[in-house]
Amino acid sequence: MEAFAVEGLPEIRAGDDLATLIDEHVDFEAGDVLCLASTVVSKAEGRKADLADFPASSRAEAIAERLESVTGETKDPRFAQAVLAESEELVIEAPFLLAVTRFGHVTVNAGIDRSNVPGAELLLLPEDPTASAERLSEALGVPVVVTDTSGRPFRYGQRGVAIGWAGLPAARDWRGESDRDGRELDVTVQAVVDELAAAANLVAGEGGGGTPAVVIRGWEFGDHAGSDELFRADEDDLVRDALREWEFER
Ligand code: GDP
Ligand code: MN
Ligand code: MN
Repeated sequence: MEAFAVEGLPEIRAGDDLATLIDEHVDFEAGDVLCLASTVVSKAEGRKADLADFPASSRAEAIAERLESVTGETKDPRFAQAVLAESEELVIEAPFLLAVTRFGHVTVNAGIDRSNVPGAELLLLPEDPTASAERLSEALGVPVVVTDTSGRPFRYGQRGVAIGWAGLPAARDWRGESDRDGRELDVTVQAVVDELAAAANLVAGEGGGGTPAVVIRGWEFGDHAGSDELFRADEDDLVRDALREWEFER
């Protein structure tokens, strides 16, 4: 398997036809998967915003005040408002904002970025990254995974995850297949889109590389059972449930 960046993409602006831009810079082969940093999908979809677009509600004021008091840092209530606007729910309100986005991804600050956003203060995630992936996949004729850099519990550091996908299942279901001893696997569902996203993110980098699009070549989903479940359903999520009860103290 190979993972390589598409070179030569320009700074993406609202209204740009991403599929055509990418198509001009790569010769796709059968079996390729395109991984695309959500940053450029957002830019193309006009998701840049400014703090002034989010006048703070009293709830946002209260959230920002609490964040300031626990972190000792200045917090803009309009940023809290932007996170609220992009979220279904805040699972944690201090010492940081852990949000469930409207499309089901749980991430800090609802994935709102403040880096790689020239000419604006904020970049919101695509409204519906799977719908974005579907449009791009349709136009390019290859499966598409929309990625974002995200932190994770239990471990330091961030890595790429899939936030939308089309043209391939989210996961390979190994249940019913066997290990080397012939023992049947009964729980393993491999979140392949996250693994592709992590590999792609390694190539894309986090800084000024200008390489948001990565082609995965020579990897096959194969003839296996698939699953499109990636974001845990609320009733299936014990950790989310526990965090709702949890209160930050210090
Ligand atoms: P995120 O992980 O989706 O939040 O995106 P990042 O900000 O980490 O950027 C991922 C990659 O895309 C990096 O190599 C950036 O330099 C690159 N990138 C971000 N915006 C643009 C853009 O508008 N044009 C190009 N060519 N590259 C970009
Ligand atoms: Mn991001
Ligand atoms: Mn990133």
